[in-house]
Amino acid sequence: MAIKLFNTLVKSIALYGCEIWGMDLLKLLKGDFNLLDRTFSEKLQNKFCKMTLGVGKRSINCAVRNELCVLPMCLTIFKRILDYNHRLADLSNDRIAYNAYIDDRNANNHGFSNNKSRVNNIKTWYDSIMVLQNSTHQQDDESIIKVLRANYLQKVNEYINSSNRLKFYSKVCKINYESSQIPSYHFIKNLSIRRAITKFRISAHKYACLTSKFKNPRVEGDDKCDLCNEIESEEHVLFHCLKYDRAKLYAKIEENYEKFSEQSEPEKTAIIKNILHSKDTKLIEELGFFLKITHDKEEVHNHSGDS
Ligand SMILES: [Zn+2]
Repeated sequence: MAIKLFNTLVKSIALYGCEIWGMDLLKLLKGDFNLLDRTFSEKLQNKFCKMTLGVGKRSINCAVRNELCVLPMCLTIFKRILDYNHRLADLSNDRIAYNAYIDDRNANNHGFSNNKSRVNNIKTWYDSIMVLQNSTHQQDDESIIKVLRANYLQKVNEYINSSNRLKFYSKVCKINYESSQIPSYHFIKNLSIRRAITKFRISAHKYACLTSKFKNPRVEGDDKCDLCNEIESEEHVLFHCLKYDRAKLYAKIEENYEKFSEQSEPEKTAIIKNILHSKDTKLIEELGFFLKITHDKEEVHNHSGDS
């Protein structure tokens, strides 16, 4: 719902005239998405996604987009540039814009420099189409966008799989983009529980394994749980930490997964993955309730540690 609002109210205004200014973006990215999150349009969308999910601004951008099944704005911009190309080519031949377009296209094809262009913008703009075609090795618009989308998703996949911070995410939470289905926990009505689940999934929490990374100077042992002296990771909090009582959560899980509490850690992790990918929002909500308690505790703890 929030994303729909964003698309209708914000995106349409933010992308006004992107057929022209989007060219700069195109040249910057050249089909490569490494610099993506530095562009103004993505910054805007990322900010909105983080606000919607209720996670901090240091959360990882691609994971945030993933959670909402949102693609980068630049894909929309590139599509609009290509559509604009067609609109120009389809103009009647008594229009100046059309003639300038044809001249420029011919000049480009023959490798002439084109300083005398009647509509200089068109040349730069035509170049940008070439950038798209060259970077994707495709000619028709639909294939170009398809390739760019696939490039982007591949990049995200690589990033998530190699990221230290998103280890748990890549193992347990990653969603299938092709299905375009947002994870079912988004249908839980209670906002704070939804947020607790997102924070846990994309490691935007305050567990020591993460907070220690932002500490300067870093002290050895900072990533350990102050009670159990084990690394305070997602698995530690979920299955081992002595700070939390998981009787209620385990009982609920065992209604569906027999003898859950007796399983080994990898088996338990696999079951949690199953639950998070299922449509059993009641059970996911119970898990979220537990996670919320762990976040609240860490928040209080970090706060008292700061003062
Ligand atoms: Zn612990």
